[in-house]
Amino acid sequence: MNSLAQKVILVTGASRGIGAAVAQHLAAAGAKVIVNYAGRRADAEATVQSIVEKGGEAFAVRADVSKPDEVKVLFDASIERFGRIDVLINNAGILIYKLIRDTTDEEFTRQFEINVRGTFNTLREAATRLADNGTIINFSSSTTRMMLPTYGTYVATKGAVEQLTRVFAKEVGARGINVNAVLPGPTNTELFLVGKTQETLDRLAALNAFNRIGEPEDIARIVVFLAGDDAKWISGQTIGLNGAMA
Ligand code: NDP
Repeated sequence: MNSLAQKVILVTGASRGIGAAVAQHLAAAGAKVIVNYAGRRADAEATVQSIVEKGGEAFAVRADVSKPDEVKVLFDASIERFGRIDVLINNAGILIYKLIRDTTDEEFTRQFEINVRGTFNTLREAATRLADNGTIINFSSSTTRMMLPTYGTYVATKGAVEQLTRVFAKEVGARGINVNAVLPGPTNTELFLVGKTQETLDRLAALNAFNRIGEPEDIARIVVFLAGDDAKWISGQTIGLNGAMA
């Protein structure tokens, strides 16, 4: 299936986890993919390698999305290599589990810098540099629909991402660009698994209708649809990808 043939797609945080699966599925659907990462170069190169081995096109670019100058360079490098960017997928993000009372200033700032400023930086760049009729998919989280202790700062950042999504959809619609946010539920990645006991994992799995933790592929397949032209009329939406959890 080549539903994304000819599309150039930038995926932030694609070295591992959901972003890596998204990059692989997009490439399998025919897209040329830019694999952004922050520090784990070997993981990013492995994502590229697996795409290329299957006959796809991809290359890796290091850039910290929280840094405006690095995001500019990321867009420069992507456009220089592939000629344009049609789809931006703002997947890069971090999560620090802490009760609000225990959260340090540094932990608060770090989550906002990467999750909110990082999304803001790429949106601002995309406002003038994403191709006409492009698509943007931001990553929020289904936890914005729940009230889970220790997620306070994280859901505050993702709530901000959802608001940016709604407003930006109206700001860039005149260029034919649609903008949505996806809200994964618990998904089997390092971000989610860190520090959790099997008991906690079972409890979280039981919150959805299928009684299992999501896999990165569950998310990636939906992102492939949203990145394609058939999803163009969906814009300004926050879409739960969580098996009926919330
Ligand atoms: P992982 O921790 O597995 O992967 C995070 C990715 O983001 C890595 O590629 C990492 O790069 C990259 N990254 C981190 N900081 C930066 C930065 N400053 N600049 C550029 N890239 C960065 O996370 P997941 O795959 O689990 O999460 C992906 C997205 O999905 C996040 O936005 C997360 O909030 C969201 N999400 C995840 C859920 C889950 O249960 N897993 C549930 C709901 C939402 P590097 O490898 O170089 O460090």
